[in-house]
Amino acid sequence: MSEFDLIRRHLTGLGAGRDDVLLDVGDDCAVLHVPAGRELAVGIDTLVAGVHFLPDCDPAALGWKALAVNLSDLAAVGAEPAWATLAITLPDADEAWLAAFARGFGELAAAEDVRLVGGDVTRGPLTVTVQAHGLVPSEHMLRRSGARPSDLICVSGAIGDAGLALKHLLAGEPVDDYLRRRLERPTPRVALGEVLRDLATSAIDLSDGLLADLGHVLAASGCAARVELERLPLADQVAAAVAEHGDWSLPLSSGDDYELCFTLPRTAAGQLPVLAAAAGCPLTTIGEIEAGSGLRCVRADGSVWTGPDQGYDHFS
Ligand code: ADP
Ligand code: MG
Repeated sequence: MSEFDLIRRHLTGLGAGRDDVLLDVGDDCAVLHVPAGRELAVGIDTLVAGVHFLPDCDPAALGWKALAVNLSDLAAVGAEPAWATLAITLPDADEAWLAAFARGFGELAAAEDVRLVGGDVTRGPLTVTVQAHGLVPSEHMLRRSGARPSDLICVSGAIGDAGLALKHLLAGEPVDDYLRRRLERPTPRVALGEVLRDLATSAIDLSDGLLADLGHVLAASGCAARVELERLPLADQVAAAVAEHGDWSLPLSSGDDYELCFTLPRTAAGQLPVLAAAAGCPLTTIGEIEAGSGLRCVRADGSVWTGPDQGYDHFS
């Protein structure tokens, strides 16, 4: 099986059909039409076997996740996903593996109206890089830098699920279907990013843990924050793990949540239920932006929790 056969059989025509794709897989470049009044949002993420995923993981789940983590970045700037490119490095031409990977990737791509428009295939240690391209109305993108004192801090969905699933997997313990799905097939909050565009003062997607990622928003916005631990949206399994050890690092510092964390002016608080309905996911207020710098996590009794405050950093 040649490189070109693999591309033709498994990576051509993947995802949604879009009439803004002028040149597709099979030409030297993809050529894509950006309509007037829209800006191009571009993000890229690499997943390395043994670093970002277990080498023996389900290839269909990996295909889904490789695209999902990139769509999550597009959601964080309020962009509507449109196109993706894929650079994949394989140890050998394992056709069954690539077919399953393409199936998982294509499933999410079709659901989110994304077309795979090009890429590269090379031989080497298993690595997957996806670049996602989206469209955002000019002047309406979300950023990290707009949070202001008194804004509410909100998160979508629940946090800590993927971290707990990974903890179980690494310990050789059973993982229930909910937690496994949250680790392997995260749902990028694309619809939420779009409805937040004209309302949120800042947004970020949670890939490295709430403390680290909210920390980036605070640094970019020049603000401090208070997070109320008892308000964190936790699945029962995560709440039980926190209660067992009194350790909040699972929801605060484990990565791979792929939820959005955003800030809203206090005057927009009443709109949260409407936004949640439009986005199709729960939204929870977890704290407040304050003047100054730093992030305080406060327990229900008012005491401050201090734990490891770093998310995942490849070089630390
Ligand atoms: P070239 O030799 O011109 O650089 P390639 O051999 O790299 O072209 O790729 C041939 C075609 O297949 C190109 O259109 C390229 O975008 C596409 N392609 C290669 N790898 C992938 C991939 N992993 N996913 C999607 N398309 C791919
Ligand atoms: Mg090439």
